[in-house]
Amino acid sequence: MDLNTPIKQLTRVGKITAGRLAKLGLRTVEDLIFYFPFRYEDFRNIVKINDLQSESVVTIRGKIELIANRRSFRTRKNVTEAIVADDSGQIKVIWFNQPFLTKTLKQGDEIFLAGKVSGDDFAAQMISPIYEPAFARLRQGELIHTARIVPIYPLTAGVTEKQLRFLVKQTLPAVRQMKDFLPDELVARNLVAADNFLKLSEALEQIHFPTDEILLAAAKKRLGFDELFLIQLRIQRARQELDAAFAPAIKFLQKPTKEFVAGLPFKLTDAQRQASWEILQDLEKSRPMNRLLQGDVGSGKTVTAAIAILNVILNGYKVVVMTPTEILAQQHFKTFQKLFVKNNFRIAILTRGSKFVGDEKMTPKKMTDLVNVGEFDLLIGTHALIQEKIKVPDLGFVIIDEQHRFGVKQRKALARAKQQNVVPHFLSMTATPIPRTLMLTVYGDLDLSIINQMPAGRKPIITKVVDENNRAKAYEFVRKELQNGRQSFVICPLIDPSDTLGYKSVKQESEFLAKEIFPELKIGLMHGKLKSAEKEMIMARFNNKELDILVSTSVVEVGVDIPNATIMMIEGADRFGLAQLHQFRGRVGRAQYQSYCFLFSSNNDPAAIKRLKYLETCVDGFSLAEKDLESRGSGEIYGSRQSGLPEFKMAKITDFELVALAQKEAKWVLENKKITPELLAKIERMEFVGHCE
Ligand code: ADP
Ligand code: MG
Repeated sequence: MDLNTPIKQLTRVGKITAGRLAKLGLRTVEDLIFYFPFRYEDFRNIVKINDLQSESVVTIRGKIELIANRRSFRTRKNVTEAIVADDSGQIKVIWFNQPFLTKTLKQGDEIFLAGKVSGDDFAAQMISPIYEPAFARLRQGELIHTARIVPIYPLTAGVTEKQLRFLVKQTLPAVRQMKDFLPDELVARNLVAADNFLKLSEALEQIHFPTDEILLAAAKKRLGFDELFLIQLRIQRARQELDAAFAPAIKFLQKPTKEFVAGLPFKLTDAQRQASWEILQDLEKSRPMNRLLQGDVGSGKTVTAAIAILNVILNGYKVVVMTPTEILAQQHFKTFQKLFVKNNFRIAILTRGSKFVGDEKMTPKKMTDLVNVGEFDLLIGTHALIQEKIKVPDLGFVIIDEQHRFGVKQRKALARAKQQNVVPHFLSMTATPIPRTLMLTVYGDLDLSIINQMPAGRKPIITKVVDENNRAKAYEFVRKELQNGRQSFVICPLIDPSDTLGYKSVKQESEFLAKEIFPELKIGLMHGKLKSAEKEMIMARFNNKELDILVSTSVVEVGVDIPNATIMMIEGADRFGLAQLHQFRGRVGRAQYQSYCFLFSSNNDPAAIKRLKYLETCVDGFSLAEKDLESRGSGEIYGSRQSGLPEFKMAKITDFELVALAQKEAKWVLENKKITPELLAKIERMEFVGHCE
């Protein structure tokens, strides 16, 4: 048997079983080996029957004194009853609907039984325990179902835990012969230097059939290391390649930059100055910039980017800004038109619904043609740019706002290349605070600029979790604010009403608010399924204060800038991650007015409420993201929209030490040219795409 041996050749796998296993993606011995348990049951505690305590999880060893099937009168189901005894006492054991058991288990057999004890301390019993013949220990050298830490696998219909354990057990000889794909030197070094590092074969054996919890932890560590290491290797290698590419060197033009900054209606913060300076320094090099501009919501990233855009355009190159939503694209279009009003730049927008160069509306065909010959200076768009196969000549700079993955390949695809190996400069902007560990792992390929300072005069947003008893009071408060000329957002999780989810929808809620609560106010409705012209019109009306309240789904989550809005009400707040709620909250408090965020949740679970209450005191996006990461994993921070983040089966992204080790070792492999064809194949097969690729 080797890794490629088909599962069908294992003992007790017929056609039907093979089909069911294939549904789990299990076709070969290798698939089985890399099918990891998602939890374990600790049945190591072998207890004398006389000492059994109700509710404890144990293994007993005893002899079957009696075993028989009977039919339950009430449920008409088969019940197998047995009496099992050891030298201390007897216990009754019951299984339901397994009549064949009396064929496997006979009076007089010695067995192990593992499971939870029920009944009371006087008449303990076990219901549906896992059983394993005691001679298994002699024959197979080891028990796999009882009297140990037992693996529990994710399963599909028709496959049982016992079956899977039995199959995985058969693969162990192949596991033991497996060669480590990591360089020997690396493994040897870490076996000595790192705590609890295991060889691959040992880690794989221990992940399935752990000897004890220490070795189990070590196995998880080694397999987690592998995941992090491979990602690091891939990112660092891509970065090496990118470093060998070229981008146009952009000269810093001091005079026009000074004039631009002087023309702004406000003074730049020191953090904005610092970040612009870092960006401009990168742009001056002929090596492509690869930078992340991180700054909490409202910290003023747009104008910081505008300074860079100004310089690139004045150097004769084109700039593309990409956004995740149409709303944001339209907003940027207007903002940049205003910012560059004195510069006479040709500013264009290309989304599915809006196609303009300046104020001139274009047909789709005309738009693509103009863009493809470079009849513009600054182009703002959504993913439509990629879908419509836009090719921009002299593309010098690509900016991605509030999106998390955009690789070199995509950047190259946008540019009409004149020479080989030319890649535009790249800036990714995000308000999502990225915890340090994730930064090192997934964003290890980016240089970082941080705007850690808010424009002067902003007041902290007052955040309250409002329970249903206080809802009316909250509405009265909101009414006063709106009467004073301010505006409010209301976020609901759903577009349409749903019977099953129990969350509010924008359609119902906007009607309810208009009829029952705020009949005197003007209420608008926004969600992702509206046509882009409608979205634009609604945003424009809200912006012009023709609407007092905007009821919206999470489409206004990122970037939207309405300085006059001071109230953010969020329905079904428990549905959202903390970092995402922080983003919603960032839609208000963008001017000098005191702003408020009210969180409503019909989920009365104390843990859910406690999680939300954390927002009342915490204004730091970083710690909110860390909290999300601990409780929900990395997917949560980015919402469901952003994909492309790696999924870790084993690695804990919060394990800073392991992340750092993986980073160090990947660097060592590249610097010392230890990369093997096997390692290469592994990283090329990965689905995850880094910024440098
Ligand atoms: P974000 O970083 O969330 O993208 P924006 O770039 O949208 O933030 O800026 C938020 C608001 O703050 C905008 O209305 C912008 O004009 C304003 N702004 C930006 N920088 C400053 C500053 N230095 N002083 C005052 N207001 C600023
Ligand atoms: Mg923004």
